[in-house]
Amino acid sequence: MKKIIIIKYGELTTKKDNISFFINTLKDNIKNALININHEIIFDKGRMFISTENYEEVVEVLTNTFGIHEINIAYELDNNNIELISNNLLELLKSKEFNTFKVNTKRSDKNYPLNSMDINKKLGSLILNKFKNKKVDVHNPDLNINVEIRFNKSYFYFEKVKGIGGYPVGTLGKGLLMLSGGIDSPVAGYYALKRGIRIEAIYFESPPHTSLNAKNKVLSLARELSKYGGYVKVHIVNFTKIQEAIYKNCPHEYMITIMRRIMYRISERLSYKINAKVLINGESVGQVASQTLTSMRVINEVVKIPVLRPLACFDKIEIINVAKNINTYDISILPYEDCCTIFVPDHPVINPISSLAEEYEKLIPYEELINEALKNIEVIKILKENKKFDNIL
Ligand code: ATP
Ligand code: MG
Repeated sequence: MKKIIIIKYGELTTKKDNISFFINTLKDNIKNALININHEIIFDKGRMFISTENYEEVVEVLTNTFGIHEINIAYELDNNNIELISNNLLELLKSKEFNTFKVNTKRSDKNYPLNSMDINKKLGSLILNKFKNKKVDVHNPDLNINVEIRFNKSYFYFEKVKGIGGYPVGTLGKGLLMLSGGIDSPVAGYYALKRGIRIEAIYFESPPHTSLNAKNKVLSLARELSKYGGYVKVHIVNFTKIQEAIYKNCPHEYMITIMRRIMYRISERLSYKINAKVLINGESVGQVASQTLTSMRVINEVVKIPVLRPLACFDKIEIINVAKNINTYDISILPYEDCCTIFVPDHPVINPISSLAEEYEKLIPYEELINEALKNIEVIKILKENKKFDNIL
């Protein structure tokens, strides 16, 4: 029998009319993610199979692929005859160590002469006969023996690897992630990818106030995200002139409010250009002065585009735990300053007033500055293999 990987879709199966679009996108994403590993993808009703020599590597990639609910490494039998199934299963079990077991059968061919219960019973009693000291335990068995009978094939597997769920990246279109070097925004990006949104990222830098290391840190974070999204294009906006103009001309307590209103405006303009339908950021209610409800409203009101804030209601501890799981935490806590932290005023306004923000920002030629910043964007496409930014850290 040959080994084969079975992929199960989970939530995707609730998509009735456009399920094939979701599944084809998943297939393309898997193909791209496995570009350097020899493999073949086979479709069958309700399942995808991957045949390969490198099971472990492939399973690892699949556990980072959104749209997959479960992964099984199975043994494939080129037949669905019950005698052959029994003999091959008994042979396989010779190398397994267990005292208790349970047989779970699924059959997709509803015309098959035996139903699932009959097959469970038949295989169970054959196992009890052949291996004298084994027992059935339906609640907590040492070994789960899963048998799937399809139209002319059968599969056996003993372990289920949990997928990360979600929708295949790209099925919901594109969003623009406001990516800083902090802990929150990469996690926000991860959740957006999980809902099937392909992301591009925008990063505001203020050289020489921010260093090359700060920029490379953001590119490293983008690389971690590209493990889930195939690739991430990072748009780097030079924010120095804008930040200096705000610092020199606007009341300091409104500095962050105005800075963020301008970041939002630039992000919205870029999103129209790259056809991103939403902005995504790492804001979390109450975390800092610019994330009180009043601040969020005064900042948000300068754009029309919807802003997704996947972490809006997360605690910092919860965010940190996810950041650790997705390997962005260690990069995020590197010390390099990002442009927001350098120009932080002592007393940022907690309840800004719209009319004042409008009045103060008129003290700088922000339209002109925005246009200039948009003209000079640097774009870097980050692939998951791309490690060159890590060396500089
Ligand atoms: P993070 O929230 O990612 O930990 P942070 O705490 O430094 O970074 P905040 O001041 O909380 O950032 O800003 C809230 C959100 O605004 C960030 O999550 C991010 O989406 C966006 N943002 C902040 N600074 C930048 C920047 N320099 N470039 C792009 N987006 C930024
Ligand atoms: Mg934050």
